[in-house]
Amino acid sequence: MKEILRISDLAVSYGHIEAVKGIDLVLNEGEITALVGANGAGKSTALLAISGLLKPVRGQVLFDGIDLTRLPPHKIVRSGVVQVAEGRAILTTLTVAENLDLGSYARRDKTRTAQDLEWVYSLFPVLKQRAAGLAGNLSGGEQQMLAIARALMAKPRILLLDEPSMGLAPLIVQEIFRILKEINLTGLTILLVEQNVRQALRIAQRGYVLETGKVVLADSGANLLHNPKVIEAYLGA
Ligand code: ATP
Repeated sequence: MKEILRISDLAVSYGHIEAVKGIDLVLNEGEITALVGANGAGKSTALLAISGLLKPVRGQVLFDGIDLTRLPPHKIVRSGVVQVAEGRAILTTLTVAENLDLGSYARRDKTRTAQDLEWVYSLFPVLKQRAAGLAGNLSGGEQQMLAIARALMAKPRILLLDEPSMGLAPLIVQEIFRILKEINLTGLTILLVEQNVRQALRIAQRGYVLETGKVVLADSGANLLHNPKVIEAYLGA
């Protein structure tokens, strides 16, 4: 397995509150890695530090030999590490197609961009049907799909997702996880932050469990699903 990103001793604070307390985490190329844990465990904070939106107090995020903690967010996106924002963050007054255009604005490879648009529309046929409609008129699940699709248009090498299942009905959640697996099968590396522990570990090759800012368990997704501690704390069995 080829390592694509390595986080070492990452610590992030909000004032005096240390939300992430020195975590180590490795992403293997082409795998889905799930970062799971309860509300407030520090998952979102860790993701924001990887995408450069929060500056860590210590630690490294090594990607392609570069420490991402030294780069501003737009350079991190350009390097290929792209986050799908929590709460969707699509532009509701623009059309679906315009939102997708925005995702690819920094790209110069227009032919590949057009091919990727077709690919994204094949992953999310509903977005093709609604391409000319306002993004604000989409349902919650469709808006989440658009947020993922827009991130894909930036041609990521690593896709970061923060709680894509949040606030969505179970059937839509299943559909989104199915599509994430499909995207992963094209070779894209994914870091998936989730409170929906069962669904996340089902599609992830590897998982990390975060509790109060620390990694308490790291194993394959399948092993974590059967780990008694995980079952007791997160799977309600
Ligand atoms: P959630 O699923 O609720 O987003 P999480 O695991 O992603 O949970 P974080 O949002 O990273 O957890 O929060 C980690 C800790 O940092 C929590 O104790 C939270 O209260 C605190 N925290 C988060 N954001 C801020 C902020 N802007 N200012 C101060 N403290 C914060």
